[in-house]
Amino acid sequence: MKWRCALIQRRLPDYPDGDLNPFWKRQVASHLEVCPDCRQEAEELAEVMSLYQAEPLPDPGPAFWQDFQQELHLKLAQVNQTPAPSPWRRASWAATPRTR
Ligand SMILES: [Zn+2]
Repeated sequence: MKWRCALIQRRLPDYPDGDLNPFWKRQVASHLEVCPDCRQEAEELAEVMSLYQAEPLPDPGPAFWQDFQQELHLKLAQVNQTPAPSPWRRASWAATPRTR
């Protein structure tokens, strides 16, 4: 029953300590008892969470985010410009009066 697994796994990040209502906690708990796949998923998630909690990532600081954003802008610009129009062609297109 794949759809059930999907429903359960979507709630795993909030299980067992998170902001999950009692109904879903019970659903998840009973599903984990019968489904090895979801149990493994839950274990891996718990491992990642405990790693993160043991060693929280330091805030990289404003310089990082500035770089990050610049890189993102560059990437977006590159994506938008494929294929790259040459500047004069764009200018001549813009100068052509629209008849429609
Ligand atoms: Zn499952």
